[in-house]
Amino acid sequence: MSNRRNFIKNLGALSLLLGTSKLDLNAQNSKKSRATKVNKPIVLSTWDFGIEANKGAWEVLNNNGTALDAVEKGVRIVEADPNERSVGYGGRPDRDGIVTLDACIMDDKANIGSVASLENIKHPISVARKVMEDTPHVMLVGDGALQFALEKGFKKENLLTDISEKEWKEWLKDTNYQLPINIENHDTIGMIALDAHGNLSGACTTSGMAYKMHGRVGDSPIIGAGLYVDNEIGAVTATGHGEEVIRIAGSHLVVELMRQGYSPENACKEAVNRIIKLTQSRKKDLKNIQVGFIAINKQGEYGSYCIHPGFNFAVYDQTGNRLINGKSITK
Ligand code: ASP
Repeated sequence: MSNRRNFIKNLGALSLLLGTSKLDLNAQNSKKSRATKVNKPIVLSTWDFGIEANKGAWEVLNNNGTALDAVEKGVRIVEADPNERSVGYGGRPDRDGIVTLDACIMDDKANIGSVASLENIKHPISVARKVMEDTPHVMLVGDGALQFALEKGFKKENLLTDISEKEWKEWLKDTNYQLPINIENHDTIGMIALDAHGNLSGACTTSGMAYKMHGRVGDSPIIGAGLYVDNEIGAVTATGHGEEVIRIAGSHLVVELMRQGYSPENACKEAVNRIIKLTQSRKKDLKNIQVGFIAINKQGEYGSYCIHPGFNFAVYDQTGNRLINGKSITK
């Protein structure tokens, strides 16, 4: 009896304690979230060309515009630039000499749109946005995507520039399919933004791996792989070997890790480590694989991680627009 009484008494004390500490914790959390100023607006994008892309996005963000409009405007700058040889117009072709483009977009309400293996259209990101807004579907590919784009008023254009054609013909001479990492044989513009209203969106667009097999689709147009946005948690995008990013559903994984409390940088690092582990267990050579993630959370904190040195990303917030080297696992 006395034991039972003690037990009940202790239980009471315990629940009081738990109750109090829960209250304390809540108070602390809400104090913390009120005290921590959200870093917004902010935009992040992959690689050197992210600097120019960020400038376009910033014009929208700095005028109270939406993250969705910002990311579309930002990546269109790189899509239109013939000197950027891994995205949009001027992108390197597949092994048959055809430029095929992949892109996707995701907003704060989990609306998604995507196109893959799209030919002859300079701005796949805007076609992806139309898929998101004007169709009951989330992804259109190949000829169907082209037909849809033409119906929506996009112009058919030749995307294969003279230099790309010349290089492709050179490549044909000794078709080396395993190209070195980190040089311009691939690279994607992935862009994620938090707007002044506190909403997140992202966009991802690429011509994919140079000299890929015709019909090959990478991670960039795959929601959850090349891009993912959860307006309660954060936004993530990827670049590098798409096959490896798809294997771990990379961008979704990074968002889920942030949900569990990982910082953006540590979430990216954990995802990169998973790719490394799988590469090793599949007995593949890590030196031929590069992947980089960039991530932003709801507070406007950001981070990145990649496998090998050489990846960088651009950040634009109230402190300006700058390039940052992604931390890497190998040194
Ligand atoms: N992720 C792209 C793809 O696999 C290429 C890249 O970002 O390097 O198509």
